[in-house]
Amino acid sequence: LFVSFEGIDGSGKSTQARLLAGHLRGAGHEVVLTREPGGSPGAEEIRKLLLTGAGDRWSPETELLLFTAARRDHLERVIAPALDRGAVVISDRFADSTRVYQGVGRADLRGQVDELHALMIAREPDLTLLIDMEPGAGLARAAARGGGEGRFESFGEDLQARLRSGFLALAGEYPDRISVIDGDRPPETVAADIARVAEAWLA
Ligand code: C5P
Repeated sequence: LFVSFEGIDGSGKSTQARLLAGHLRGAGHEVVLTREPGGSPGAEEIRKLLLTGAGDRWSPETELLLFTAARRDHLERVIAPALDRGAVVISDRFADSTRVYQGVGRADLRGQVDELHALMIAREPDLTLLIDMEPGAGLARAAARGGGEGRFESFGEDLQARLRSGFLALAGEYPDRISVIDGDRPPETVAADIARVAEAWLA
């Protein structure tokens, strides 16, 4: 089973990915918990290129190529081998982030995003948990944890609102795969919801 977590910055998806991994390990599954951009040694190097320096260090097109290169390495070296041996893979972000951040967030590149995906990735998670929440609440949470490496957090609520609508539109495009989870609730309530959805897939 290949599961991805998606959502805007500060949506709590990393916490929820960790909680689901612990839950499924407790039930006896081999779980590989990983993240994007990054998740393999090469992709983590590309992550540094993407997240350090000014937000305009790369053009939107170059940025898209770097995210795709990182995903290809992550898929080849970590995700595909784990799925082949029957492990559950939980990735904190996958291709939907690129569809939204590079496709409609920073620039209008959805066509190129889809072409590159078909050419170089051509794989979707079985299940995507989209943690949906108010952009203001997400930004407050992201700021509270110190902002991390986030580049878009500083772009404020307008962009986060556009990203949120982008994710919700994707959920409409892929209704069989993407499950929208209300993230404006206590983490343990959100986690219980997610565990139910994941268990239904594993049953
Ligand atoms: O999820 P995480 O906080 O690790 O993401 C790191 C940063 O990269 C965030 O600011 C996120 O907005 C950005 N990002 C991006 N395009 C992606 C995935 C993440 O700009 N496809």
